[in-house]
Amino acid sequence: MAEESYEMSRSRSDASRSTDQHGEYNSEEEQMNLLNKEEQSDSEEEEEEELEEDEEWAIIVDENEVDGIHDFEKDNPTLRYACIALAIGLLFIIFKVAMVRFTHDSGHTERGAERLYYNGSEYFASTVILISFDGFRPDYLNRGVTPNLKQFANDGIMASYMHPAFPPSTFPNHWTLVTGLYPEAHGIVANLFYDPDINSVFSHSNSTSTADHRWWKGEPIWTTSRINGRRTGSIMWPGSETNYNPPDMVVKYNGTMSTKEKMETTLSWLDLPYDNRPQMNEYIEEADTSIGYLLSELKERNLDSHAHIVIVSDHGMADVTDKKLIFYDDILSPDVLKHVRDREALPLLDLRPSPGAPKDTVQKIYDQLYNYTQTVKEPHFQVYLREDVPDRFHYKHSNRITPVVAIPDVGYSFVTHTQVDEKGFQKGGNHGYDNLAADMRAIFMAKGPKIDRVYKQGTVLAPFFNTEVYGLLTELLNMDAPPNNGTLHADFPISFSPPF
Ligand SMILES: [Zn+2]
Repeated sequence: MAEESYEMSRSRSDASRSTDQHGEYNSEEEQMNLLNKEEQSDSEEEEEEELEEDEEWAIIVDENEVDGIHDFEKDNPTLRYACIALAIGLLFIIFKVAMVRFTHDSGHTERGAERLYYNGSEYFASTVILISFDGFRPDYLNRGVTPNLKQFANDGIMASYMHPAFPPSTFPNHWTLVTGLYPEAHGIVANLFYDPDINSVFSHSNSTSTADHRWWKGEPIWTTSRINGRRTGSIMWPGSETNYNPPDMVVKYNGTMSTKEKMETTLSWLDLPYDNRPQMNEYIEEADTSIGYLLSELKERNLDSHAHIVIVSDHGMADVTDKKLIFYDDILSPDVLKHVRDREALPLLDLRPSPGAPKDTVQKIYDQLYNYTQTVKEPHFQVYLREDVPDRFHYKHSNRITPVVAIPDVGYSFVTHTQVDEKGFQKGGNHGYDNLAADMRAIFMAKGPKIDRVYKQGTVLAPFFNTEVYGLLTELLNMDAPPNNGTLHADFPISFSPPF
């Protein structure tokens, strides 16, 4: 089902290829050069990159020009609204903003005419602002430092929590949020993985690979919007910086040094152990303040009752400590370890044989890990052959997933003695564990006129999976969604409805 969905949606997005204004690679040769370069640069430091993923991402998004924004602004008087979102994104770098809005001339008629909104100077069709706070766990809302988010939830709807997709890592989940597909279907199966067909490594921290559209399968909301004749903008949303069919406006990162430092600092708060995290509340407060700012700016433009705002996070966060280490070089024999590629999909222990490895390497990796789990009382991980990964993970139908998948218990880290002896072990926060674990839960809130029509203000939704967000976005934008892994079609089960 998942792969079928992908094929169908992909062929649909391919249909717009001929009208795409954004260049692909100039030649096959150039493409190969890029890939070769990528192979070389990815061969080292992969683990380190993964552990510091958000900081690395900050570095990627630094490599941008924002000239296009100004051009667009001049050519499109109705873009004033998008510019607000961009400004907020630049001010509050910690969150990623994708902004989607209708244009007046949608050719889509099956769903009926869209009611336009007049703010006193212009007509606006349905508008959605999607905001993601990286690593924002639902219980952060209980610290008494988020008055704006609390008010937002009272005025709109919120889920008690939202399950991320597996693995609950940044890139797979941001791509799930905008495609409605499981990672095995949309291809971004981890922040770092190898594709045997492309014969190359995807790394979220390598701008060459994040720009290469061949990694990003499925149809993101901005492509659906383009097919429906609507314009989109994105600020720092993973996958929006590809060289094929990106949103109409893309802001990667407009970096002065101080802004970048601010981003890195803010993100690094998340990596500190909770006990030593005085600034954690500052991160939460800044997220909250940014929402307050957005709402007041919308009000200023008389758009507060018109715009739809959807607030999500990509995953939660768990403490990691040096008390919860699994030394996998004690489990796997040296003759097996010398025949495996670099790890993928950390903090999982996802391994695949290196080129020229003996044919029984996969079975040996699996047997040694599995035998360990059977002989030790508390192994603190589960190991599967890819084809045997339990269905609920939706993590087997892609050869980008390694043939052996080991999932550590929440908070545990696979390490080697060499790694710890040389670099020590950095305590902090991590994610990417079982996506049903409480610590991995994400947030979901939404507000806007169409939501008001369906739900009472202050409604609390029962938990759902983030594959449903894409279907909500297409509903809010009055667009038909291509096949995807969502099943609710924005009809969310309610766990609490206010009695008024
Ligand atoms: Zn993240």
